[in-house]
Amino acid sequence: MSEQHSESKLKIESRLAQIGSQEEPVTGAVSFPIYQATAFRHPKLGQSTGFDYARTKSPTRKVLEDAIAELESGDAGFACSSGMAALQTIFALFSQGDHLIVSLDLYGGTYRLLEKIMSRFGVTATYVDTNDLDALESHYQSNTKAVLIETPTNPLMMITDLELVCGWAKKKGILSIVDNTLLTPFFQRPIELGADIVIHSATKYLGGHNDVLAGLIVTKGKELSEQMAFLHNSIGAVLNPQDSWLLMRGMKTLAIRMERHQHNATKIAEFLLNHPQVEAVYYPALESHPGYVVQKKQSSGNTGIFSFKMKDARFIEPILRHIQLIAFAESLGGVESLMTYPAVQTHADIPEDIRRRVGVDDRLLRYSVGIEHADDLIADLARAIDLAQSEIEGA
Ligand SMILES: *Cc1c(COP(=O)(O)O)cnc(C)c1O
Repeated sequence: MSEQHSESKLKIESRLAQIGSQEEPVTGAVSFPIYQATAFRHPKLGQSTGFDYARTKSPTRKVLEDAIAELESGDAGFACSSGMAALQTIFALFSQGDHLIVSLDLYGGTYRLLEKIMSRFGVTATYVDTNDLDALESHYQSNTKAVLIETPTNPLMMITDLELVCGWAKKKGILSIVDNTLLTPFFQRPIELGADIVIHSATKYLGGHNDVLAGLIVTKGKELSEQMAFLHNSIGAVLNPQDSWLLMRGMKTLAIRMERHQHNATKIAEFLLNHPQVEAVYYPALESHPGYVVQKKQSSGNTGIFSFKMKDARFIEPILRHIQLIAFAESLGGVESLMTYPAVQTHADIPEDIRRRVGVDDRLLRYSVGIEHADDLIADLARAIDLAQSEIEGA
C-alpha cells in the first residue's frame, strides 16, 4: 500500500504496468507471487503477520485490492469471485424495507439479482434514466438508500452525469454506487466525481483476455470501507490467489488495450454509421450521441463496446452466422472481438416492456470490439452484412 501510494504521482500507465512489481521484498520478484495458502502462522499469542485466514485477507489478493483502490482514488479495495458476487456484497449493505434507484438499461444480471433475490429480502428498486434529475426526485422515497449508476449503460450506451447525480445523492444523504466496468479507471474515475462505491466486473476490460471471472469493489471513506470489509469477509465470495494474479497480469496492459479498443470501436462505429442497412449506432464517441458532451467532460476516453440497429430484423440471424473473425459470444472487454444479440442473450432477464422502453429490440446487435486490426474487423462485418443481404434478397 505504502509503495503504491508513493507512486501515485506517476501517470496511470506507469502505475498499471507496475502493479505488484515492487511489492515482494524477499526475492525482488517483479511478478508478485501466488500465495496459495489459506492459513498463516501466528508468531506468538496475540500476534499476527497481518494475515490469519485467507477469506479475510490473502497476500496476492491484497496486492490487487490495494492497486484497484489506488487506481480508482478510493480508500479500500475488495476482490470478489465475480462481478455479481461484488454486487451481492454491496447489496448486503441494505436491509429489509430499503429502496434503491437504479439505471434503466442496466446489466441484466444486476436486474435479476435485484428482482429475483434482493426483493425476497424486502429490498426494492426503481429503474429510471439516472441522468434525469426530475425522474430521480420524483422516484426518491423516504426509504431510498442509494442510487446505482451504470455509465455508459449497455447495450444502449446511455450516459449519466456523475458529478451532478452523485452531488444530488450526497444532498439526499444516500450512497452513490457506480458500475465502472465499461470505462475502467483508465478512462473514468467516479470517486473523483463524488461516488462512494465503485464496482467492476473485472471479467471484462480489467482482466481483458476472456479468461478470468472476477469482481472488484472500491469504497471511499473509513466507515464505509470498514463496513465493506466486514461484509466481504462475512459473505466470503472472495477471489482466489490464482485469479488475483491473473487479473493483475491483465491489468498491467490495460492502458494500451483501452486505447486500441477505443481506436477500433470508433473506426467501426463510423463505418456502420455510413452503412445503408444500418439504422442507428449507439456509441458515445460519436458527436451525434446524446451523451457525447457529458461523456467527454467526465471521461478521458471511450469504451470499446457499442451497439447498432439494423433497419431490418431479418439481417440479425445471417450476420451472426456469417461473421468469422468476430465471435458470436456473450461477454465484452476482451482482446478478441465478440458480438451478441442483447434481446435474447444478455438482456433476456429484463422484461420485454422495459427492454422496449429503452430500445433493446430485435434489430439491435452489441459489438465488443477487440484489439485485432480495425481493417480486418470492418472487412469481416461488411462481408457478413453483404451475405445477409443477398440471402434476404434471394429468399
Ligand atoms: C458482466 C457485468 C457484470 C457482472 O459481472 P460478472 O463478472 O459476469 O459476474 C456486472 N456489470 C456489468 C456492467 C457487466 O458488464
